[in-house]
Amino acid sequence: MSELGLTHLASGKVRDIYEVDAEHLLFVTSDRISAYDYVLSTPIPDKGAILTALSAWWFEQLADVVPNHLVSVDDDRIPASVRGRSMLVRRLEMIPVECVARGYLAGSGLAEYGQSQSVCGVPLPDGLVDGSELPEPIFTPATKAELGDHDENVSFEQVAATHGAELAERLRELTIAVYSRGRELARRQGVIVADTKFEFGRDADGSIVLADEVLTPDSSRFWPADQWQPGRVQPSYDKQFVRDWLTGPSGWDRDSEPPALPDDVVAATRAKYVEAYERITGLRFADWLARSGR
Ligand code: ATP
Ligand code: MG
Repeated sequence: MSELGLTHLASGKVRDIYEVDAEHLLFVTSDRISAYDYVLSTPIPDKGAILTALSAWWFEQLADVVPNHLVSVDDDRIPASVRGRSMLVRRLEMIPVECVARGYLAGSGLAEYGQSQSVCGVPLPDGLVDGSELPEPIFTPATKAELGDHDENVSFEQVAATHGAELAERLRELTIAVYSRGRELARRQGVIVADTKFEFGRDADGSIVLADEVLTPDSSRFWPADQWQPGRVQPSYDKQFVRDWLTGPSGWDRDSEPPALPDDVVAATRAKYVEAYERITGLRFADWLARSGR
């Protein structure tokens, strides 16, 4: 029994999961931030609430594309101490595939493209550069790594070989459909969703359900559309300040526990997360906090 009065089932880099009953989990998002596969010792205040607010908003927007695991963000079964950063969710059997959609070239996609002019076995035209828009969104799955390890990009055929062709097709179809809808909505608000990762699970009937977090700065690359300029690293609404500080001024060797973050890096990162929420949803984060009694 945890301090929340519920059985603690698991903790990932960012979330803590508790059992509510046989069908439901409490999905608590902490203020922890990870970078370069390390969980940093310095939290980002309100990050858990921002990710929860944004995911909840997206689940509602996407409900006609795919069913999702969210039951409620203000159910009586959510303890007051974690309101605002918790969701009551349906307990699912997770499908261990990181379902990544990419509409633009960046990150590991760019690196693979440089080697093979393809990403996860999907061939691409030549001449693309950092930040280029792809001719159409592509499904580039990855296997879920153990804590502290890198996720590994795999081909569609590898997913089909492990999980069956039918499930692989379904995951690809859903991933592209959810990404396409999300990208369209965000674009109207001036935000490019360059790429994003979804996780799906199965409910008791075997139906596929969108789970985890959706279209947040932790699971996506969000770029301000008015600053998009292919051929360089794009400014983004995420951990960029943290990464820049860690690989620059901090003097960190990338091979040991990262140092604590300075206050200005924490404040700038928090502001980016708030900005992402407010730009995408058109809502005020202060209202979310007030609504959840904080
Ligand atoms: P990262 O997101 O960086 O890979 P992580 O996956 O280790 O980190 P968290 O995001 O901290 O983990 O925790 C979420 C965990 O909960 C994941 O393992 C995810 O697969 C799982 N999960 C998400 N939704 C559900 C659900 N409805 N039922 C059961 N497990 C879920
Ligand atoms: Mg996760």
